[in-house]
Amino acid sequence: MYPVTVDKADPRYPDLAGRGINARFPADPAKIVLAGETEHVVRAVEDAVRAGERPAVRSGGHCFEALVDHPGTRTVLDLSEMKAVGFDPELKAFSVEPGATLGAMYRTLFLRWGVTVPAGRCPEIGVGGHVPGGGGGALSRAHGLSVDHLYGVEVVVVDESGRARAVLATREPDDPHRDLWWACTGGGAGAFGVVTRFLFRSPGGELSLPAPPAAVTKQTVRWQWADLDEDGFVGLVRAFSAWHEHNSAPGSPGARLDNSLTLPRAGGGPITLESAVEDGHAGLADAFLAEVRRAVRAEPETEVSTSPFLAAALVPDEYAGVKGRFKSKAAFLRSSWTEETIAGLYRRLTDESGYQNPAAAFYLLSHGGAINAAGPADTAMAHRDAVLKAYGSVFWWDPREDDLHLSWIRETYHGLFAEAGGVPDPDRGYGGAFVNYADADLADPELNRSGVPWHRLYFRDNYAALQRVKARWDPGDTFRHALSVRLP
Ligand SMILES: Cc1cc2nc3c(=O)[nH]c(=O)nc-3n(C[C@H](O)[C@H](O)[C@H](O)COP(=O)(O)OP(=O)(O)OC[C@H]3O[C@@H](n4cnc5c(N)ncnc54)[C@H](O)[C@@H]3O)c2cc1C
Repeated sequence: MYPVTVDKADPRYPDLAGRGINARFPADPAKIVLAGETEHVVRAVEDAVRAGERPAVRSGGHCFEALVDHPGTRTVLDLSEMKAVGFDPELKAFSVEPGATLGAMYRTLFLRWGVTVPAGRCPEIGVGGHVPGGGGGALSRAHGLSVDHLYGVEVVVVDESGRARAVLATREPDDPHRDLWWACTGGGAGAFGVVTRFLFRSPGGELSLPAPPAAVTKQTVRWQWADLDEDGFVGLVRAFSAWHEHNSAPGSPGARLDNSLTLPRAGGGPITLESAVEDGHAGLADAFLAEVRRAVRAEPETEVSTSPFLAAALVPDEYAGVKGRFKSKAAFLRSSWTEETIAGLYRRLTDESGYQNPAAAFYLLSHGGAINAAGPADTAMAHRDAVLKAYGSVFWWDPREDDLHLSWIRETYHGLFAEAGGVPDPDRGYGGAFVNYADADLADPELNRSGVPWHRLYFRDNYAALQRVKARWDPGDTFRHALSVRLP
């Protein structure tokens, strides 16, 4: 029976303590509380506060940074067994507990009701840490972000006296707790309280969520590095980006396409473009791919496959189950990088003078479409003007190589935004950063010397409102980490 409290002597400790996916951050909590229901969370949070501890919460364990496995963490609240996916007839909303993985949510919502929530591309991610950052993935250009369908949240919060309680907050205009719902629509996870239930229902009168396509056709196009020179590389990245600049208005036909361009370091495999579209609309993908291919002289290999919706949504991440060390950095782009910037990236990816890691890559991922139908303050997720997400990551095993890999990705990222001080400054044409792709460098004054505050990058004009919510619902700053909204 839950709750189960596990200390270091318990044989379950290594499994539970080691659930975080980034081996750079070893876990050393004194205890882990495995909760089974909201009341267990209330009690565990209150106990931690009374002991003067900062409770850290884990759902899916897919955090990029040490937001849970921080050296100061004494108690981890593990929500992985709170994973029910159902329907709440009273609130007329689909109810998803935070420990459900995105894959489990996709599966149950689709098989029982034929609907889905647009969310991330990796089915092993936990709903708990994903949705409060905005949440989005393959269906987002067509249907928006997860939070665009979030009707309400149940959140365990702590008041000034240290008392914990569960609060229901919805988007209803007359809900006195509406501000707490709003903060959970992009203000980042682990900053206001512990979300114990997510309630999904699309806006509008009807009781609904998006219906996913029955099948998805994916075209994969691969160029070998040996066939591409700098001009070819620049042409390819420019054409991919330009197409997104011109085909990412909400409701435009191109919003049916979800594309990714993988740019690994030379030696790490071919440059790969994947384009997924609802089956029956392959013509849209053909036109897009023809436009990109015209910009590159080299002949690529191509592959086409069609999969039913769930089979496509449940494909595991390439690193699923592999616990290595990694560092990721990301940005939203409102337009293409310049030719000079892309040429600089080409040189970083092909330079053979020092860095040799094949598991290092940059990616460009589709954004925009229905995501940009919402205004920047409708939800706390302010990034409603970007057309692409740029994402870089390096993966390695040996702790002695930390500096080598961290330097490579930090310098490469800096080069991509060099004229803005090395960050995607939203006031200098870029789109800021995505709090779900947590990058603590941006809040570290040694590593972010741009003069642009970390919260401007993550929350843009919504930060002051988020701070007011923080003051109301977490006045003691119980829920804090490197990227949590600060008290005003
Ligand atoms: C391989 C991979 C692919 C990804 N792809 C996408 C993508 O396509 N789209 C996208 O938007 N993001 C993506 N992400 C980012 C992902 O959404 C975030 O890392 C997310 O925070 C992970 O949630 P989690 O519950 O699995 O992680 P955890 O490590 O359990 O938690 C992450 C953070 O959320 C907090 N948290 C967890 N549960 C709760 C809760 N119930 N209440 C309050 N705070 C909580 C934690 O304290 C921590 O700060 C990806 C990440 C990985 C590793």
